[in-house]
Amino acid sequence: MSASKTGIKVVVVGAGFGGLTAAIECHRQGHDVSIYENFPELKTLGDIISFGANAGRIFHRWSDGKIVRRLRDLCIDLSTYGFRIHKYDTGEVVYHQPTPKQDPQAPVLNGHRGELHEVVFNYARDELGIPIHLGQPVNEYFEDENQAGIVLKSGERVVADVVIGADGVRSKARELVLGYVDKPKSSGYAVWRAWFSNTDMIKDPRTREFCINGDTFNGWIGPDVHFLFSTIKGGQDCCWVLTHRDEHDIDESWSFPGKLEDVYKVLEGWDPTCRAIVEKTPSLVDWKLVYRDPLPTWVSKHARILLLGDSAHPFLPTSAQGATQAMEDGVTIAVCLRRAGKDNVPAAVRVHQEIRYDRVALVQKTGETTRDRWHKTDWEKVAKDPKSIAFPREEWIHHHDAEKHAEESFEEIFKKVTQPELFDNVKLLPVGPIPVAV
Ligand SMILES: Cc1cc2nc3c(=O)[nH]c(=O)nc-3n(C[C@H](O)[C@H](O)[C@H](O)COP(=O)(O)OP(=O)(O)OC[C@H]3O[C@@H](n4cnc5c(N)ncnc54)[C@H](O)[C@@H]3O)c2cc1C
Repeated sequence: MSASKTGIKVVVVGAGFGGLTAAIECHRQGHDVSIYENFPELKTLGDIISFGANAGRIFHRWSDGKIVRRLRDLCIDLSTYGFRIHKYDTGEVVYHQPTPKQDPQAPVLNGHRGELHEVVFNYARDELGIPIHLGQPVNEYFEDENQAGIVLKSGERVVADVVIGADGVRSKARELVLGYVDKPKSSGYAVWRAWFSNTDMIKDPRTREFCINGDTFNGWIGPDVHFLFSTIKGGQDCCWVLTHRDEHDIDESWSFPGKLEDVYKVLEGWDPTCRAIVEKTPSLVDWKLVYRDPLPTWVSKHARILLLGDSAHPFLPTSAQGATQAMEDGVTIAVCLRRAGKDNVPAAVRVHQEIRYDRVALVQKTGETTRDRWHKTDWEKVAKDPKSIAFPREEWIHHHDAEKHAEESFEEIFKKVTQPELFDNVKLLPVGPIPVAV
């Protein structure tokens, strides 16, 4: 698809999956887009990240499927292995969840965040020629009725028709949009996470089976804890995440080095395979799970600054949808801007919010429901109905086509936003700043 130029200038702050997708989709829809990112150089950071079929559909549209093929080669292949769910203490497999048949137009993609990020980053910069300005921490935003912009560390002001704040959980853009600092809360949980090569795992007869027959995915479910372990790239790389209670207050930082001794304490009384896996870990991260109540708005006063991805809505990992929902946001704003045109940018931003807000809130909830399903497992019920412990894969989430949905919803919502007097009782979401209750 190559859209004719719209003349709309878009500045995106942040080159995570949310910001990159917004920029790629803005480029696809004919806007003139550039990215400003804090990190000075690209590094392959992170460990396992999940993209649902609803993200696979978006990737598939880039470069006629070429990008999705590159991603696919880096991702886990569970077509034969499925997902084996164990009881934490006995280790028995209580449910063997088969992998659904992949839709080639909308594949599920799970892999190393840094490696997948690099593919998408290089596609945006090198193949599409989107300017990505690295080493540019943006701390100041401005807007009026006619334009929005950012201030660079040099003091230079960059002006655009719209600024997209895709600057993650500690967003600065959020302060301007809301008019106050919305501090993260502890969700009451943290995740220890690690990614390493299989060298030691393959030497140990207790863990060898996970590395010699291709990719694997196993989960152990215990009281208020779950431990997920995968082997990937034909069993060559190993990755585990362990979600556990953690009441520490988080303020500035949410990711710390973790200690194996702490993990061993949680695994006392567990299937010894779990400890045998964890023992091989060279280093791990202790990732505090940040929670925020849904923000009252993602849109600034003049509707020329939009929060997107984690800056608007952080997800718990148990939803496996954080990055995917950030991507759906990017697709939606790009369509809304093209449909509304350069003279109606604020309306486009408000239509985006109307299209996305309720869906995001519903998907966000699944992070809590899946966690609670696992952490409060009734084992007698599972014995009678093993499927009740399965990882949910709801159709309304995974079969969603964000681009089609935006195209189909746009016209009516645009009318409601621009001509509310034509409708009875139109209730639209607010724009910022939001008065703080005393
Ligand atoms: C380093 C890193 C590692 C991660 N590892 C994992 C992982 O292993 N597994 C997982 O599930 N999720 C991981 N995540 C989170 C996951 O990528 C996001 O939840 C999801 O992709 C949504 O993406 P986003 O683009 O909204 O936010 P993010 O991915 O957080 O991207 C935000 C971007 O904005 C940039 N930024 C922030 N502030 C400024 C500023 N003031 N000026 C300019 N740029 C700014 C950041 O450097 C970052 O690149 C990681 C995120 C980061 C940043």
